[in-house]
Amino acid sequence: MRFGTVAIVGRSNVGKSTFLNAVLGEPLAAVSPRPQTTRDPLLGVVNRPGAQIAFLDTPGIHKPRTELGRRMNAAAREAARGAEVVVLMTDVSSLVGSARDAAKNPLSEEDRALLDQIPSAQALLVVVNKIDLLKDKSRLLPMMAAIREVRAAAPCIPVSALTGDGVARILDEIEALVPEGPAGYDTATLTDRSTAFFVKEYIREQALLSARSEVPHAVAVSVEKFVETRRMVVIKATIHVEKPGQRTILVGRAGSKIKEIGTLARKRIERLVDQKVHLELFVRVTPRWKDVPRQLAELGYEAPGRPGRSASGAS
Ligand code: GDP
Ligand code: MG
Repeated sequence: MRFGTVAIVGRSNVGKSTFLNAVLGEPLAAVSPRPQTTRDPLLGVVNRPGAQIAFLDTPGIHKPRTELGRRMNAAAREAARGAEVVVLMTDVSSLVGSARDAAKNPLSEEDRALLDQIPSAQALLVVVNKIDLLKDKSRLLPMMAAIREVRAAAPCIPVSALTGDGVARILDEIEALVPEGPAGYDTATLTDRSTAFFVKEYIREQALLSARSEVPHAVAVSVEKFVETRRMVVIKATIHVEKPGQRTILVGRAGSKIKEIGTLARKRIERLVDQKVHLELFVRVTPRWKDVPRQLAELGYEAPGRPGRSASGAS
């Protein structure tokens, strides 16, 4: 038996959470085209015949402008330090433009800096995601050569987390890298986060998917009521935004937007808890919640050094 933890790190929006869902075969993590959808590290456990691999999806590393942003970067770096294997993910976004640009600058400065920061003793896999967007696959070659220049020993694997292309090969590579040892989790364990955590994630995910522009970054969710009856789960939750204008956008005309967000989030939650869900959703203006430590704590964002794990009730 082999067992090890694998931190998935990289820039915002390269597809880390989509990749976690692909290896799990379950849409556990929230995914959206907005940067910084993932705010807290998320554990997902993959069981294979000869190995158990505990993946940690992390917030995208970015230039932080708020206290929340700083905490997210710290959480990603901490996850990488504690892992047996690091998956550094990038995507083909620098390769899809003109052929000349793609050849001139195949590896972004940001990716180069991230690659440089990973200690040379750390087992590392570089994954280039979203190859489904690349018609001419030979464009990958200069990027892979540039990665090899920085880290010659690290395998570099092109994948599409969206289509699943190449994902099994990554699992094989990782299985060979994690040490021999007993499994760290019960085989029934998918994650260590509570149901309430995912309730918040899926509501925020739907808010990100349905709203445009500046609204997404301003959103946080709190759960006021979570009651399991014999027939269904009753949930009361609030979406917090920073400005009245953002509230107007999320509520929509005659409440149509919030109703749509609620319906889609409810379906996500029903799949998770495998039960009927009644979801009551409110939108409230909570100014500057991202910068006020007390409000961050109330909304469930913990200070760096204490990864935001909830103790019990894992689903
Ligand atoms: P993260 O911020 O790194 O966790 O990225 P997400 O997993 O949230 O994905 C960001 C966006 O990229 C979403 O719109 C995904 O649907 C999209 N995406 C992720 N993987 C792929 C892929 O392999 N191909 C394509 N075309 N899009 C992808
Ligand atoms: Mg993510």
